[in-house]
Amino acid sequence: EPKLSGDFATLMQWADGFRRLKVRANAETPLDAETARKFGAEGIGLCRTEHMFFDPERIGAVRQMIMAADESGRRAALAKLLPFQRQDFVDLFRIMAGLPVTIRLLDPPLHEFLPHGDAELAEVAQALGTDTEAMRRRAIELAEANPMLGHRGCRLGVTFPEIYETQARAIFEGAIAVAKETGHAPVPEVMIPLVGTKPELDITRAQVERVAKAVFAETGVTLEYTVGTMIELPRAALIADRIAEVADFFSFGTNDLTQTTFGLSRDDAGKFLPTYVEQGILPKDPFVSLDIDGVGALVRIAAEKGRGTKKGLKLGICGEHGGDPASIFFCEEVGLDYVSCSPYRVPVARLAAAQAALHGGGDRTA
Ligand code: PEP
Ligand code: MG
Repeated sequence: EPKLSGDFATLMQWADGFRRLKVRANAETPLDAETARKFGAEGIGLCRTEHMFFDPERIGAVRQMIMAADESGRRAALAKLLPFQRQDFVDLFRIMAGLPVTIRLLDPPLHEFLPHGDAELAEVAQALGTDTEAMRRRAIELAEANPMLGHRGCRLGVTFPEIYETQARAIFEGAIAVAKETGHAPVPEVMIPLVGTKPELDITRAQVERVAKAVFAETGVTLEYTVGTMIELPRAALIADRIAEVADFFSFGTNDLTQTTFGLSRDDAGKFLPTYVEQGILPKDPFVSLDIDGVGALVRIAAEKGRGTKKGLKLGICGEHGGDPASIFFCEEVGLDYVSCSPYRVPVARLAAAQAALHGGGDRTA
């Protein structure tokens, strides 16, 4: 069982005395959240809700949601998912006990949820009261040539509003349940993925606000909450001043930002990146250590523009780079408020954040 003790715990406490950056963890399961807390995470910086959808108990309803012919079909499937999703958030809010929890609304490339093979097609056909052939056609219709650049993130929230509405309902109902149980109200931070235009955030933020209002009216309980966005597309960084008008916080998704800045697939880059590093074309794998010249420049632009619109706008990073010591130096220099990384990297991030504060940040990635 992970725990910090002895000299290591003492070292961590010293480090904490110096650092300015907060350290959060990326976590979606109760086990991840508990591990994060034991390692000293000061909140959840990224809960990837799509990971919860792959649970064998739920994937059937998820496939029905995607494959349904119309909104009422999607709503019926989502009604089955709501209690599961509400419980997910109850668990996380309980474990995090008042620490901030950033919940990102659904962001999968849609194809990850498509049924594959005859058995899965037949199963979803039966649930939706149609035949396997119709489902085969629907799956072909939904398939994308380039899913990572396709019907993903907030684009799903815009085209199928009932998905984000259901997730928002699960968040607020879950938070209210925990507030009643513990007497301490969680403050959910709802995060919208893959935003590239201001209207995308206008629309999805309004969905979340509508649901919050409805749930507060139904329950007679009102909670504080915030709505923010990932900055993970170059366009979002470049128009961050306008996006900040409707965002309570930014979290840099440097995995996608690296992919889209380099035009380099995060899933396939391993095939040739080692050669690039060997030949000195790139100093390091940019998916591991933040590329200061390109991705870093965009982070800097977005931070300045965002805070130009809203002084003190909360800024974090939740890509893999949030746990990379060299990248953490850069985060310190740019003045981010927190880094968020996988639970097991939290101790290293705490140390790196302290060292970065002592050295005043800077470029350590080369
Ligand atoms: C990112 O893009 O950096 C991010 C944190 O989101 P994901 O890895 O889930 O796309
Ligand atoms: Mg991303």
